[in-house]
Amino acid sequence: GRTAIIAGNWKMNYGPREAAKFVQEIQPALSEALQAPGSPLCILCPPAISLAAVRAVLDIPDAASSAQIELGAQNMYFEEKGAFTGEISPNMVHELCTTVILGHSERRTYFGETDELVNKKTLAALRHELRPIVCIGENEQQHESGETAHIITTQVRASLANLTSEQAREIVIAYEPIWAIGTGKAATGEIANNVIRQIRQEYQAIYGAEAASVVRILYGGSVTSDNIAEFMAYPDIDGALVGGASLKPDFINIVRNSRQ
Ligand code: 13P
Repeated sequence: GRTAIIAGNWKMNYGPREAAKFVQEIQPALSEALQAPGSPLCILCPPAISLAAVRAVLDIPDAASSAQIELGAQNMYFEEKGAFTGEISPNMVHELCTTVILGHSERRTYFGETDELVNKKTLAALRHELRPIVCIGENEQQHESGETAHIITTQVRASLANLTSEQAREIVIAYEPIWAIGTGKAATGEIANNVIRQIRQEYQAIYGAEAASVVRILYGGSVTSDNIAEFMAYPDIDGALVGGASLKPDFINIVRNSRQ
């Protein structure tokens, strides 16, 4: 039942010009790849300043959610408007996107985002009919000292607090072990599936069996066209949040090799 998601998090790469050029390059083959049965939902997440340029190339109709390729932002603030220099709001994101990545480990590490802030942003996204992809994951030291389960539990409870039962079904969670991000050292499918199963169990304890059975949980961290099939073979893994490998045409092969 759960439609897989392959999302490309471009991070701070490709301004409007390069973004448009790259999407022009990949769109024909990507669109064709997405026609096949068992294809995932594909979400491109360029830098905010490049969203309009990418959207123009994709020629997304007004009902953005019916588009074959959706757009996501990489972050946003929770307030709707006002004196928050440098920020973008949920309603602004909603004009161009269906989705927003929240609480990425780079936001947490370099920009001081806490579970509490991520929770406010998550609730704001849902109020504005945006699909949040909420990122959680332990760092290398926590991984090695066996703290993963504890960290994951804390992050799920705090970042995903206070959802309604309907909202609890709509969000997407991304499990991104920090030691696997940008390192070329992906988790194994088995490790990722074990942690994702724990996330689902924790989610079930809070929001019940129905929500836990429909919520999509992605893996992220050094995903490539070579290892995506291994992750997708595990029952609890519902897709991937792809960083570096989403910046190249090989991203199309990730989409192809993720088919279920
Ligand atoms: P890499 O795929 O480059 O490891 O990045 C993963 C990530 O952080 C996606 O959000």
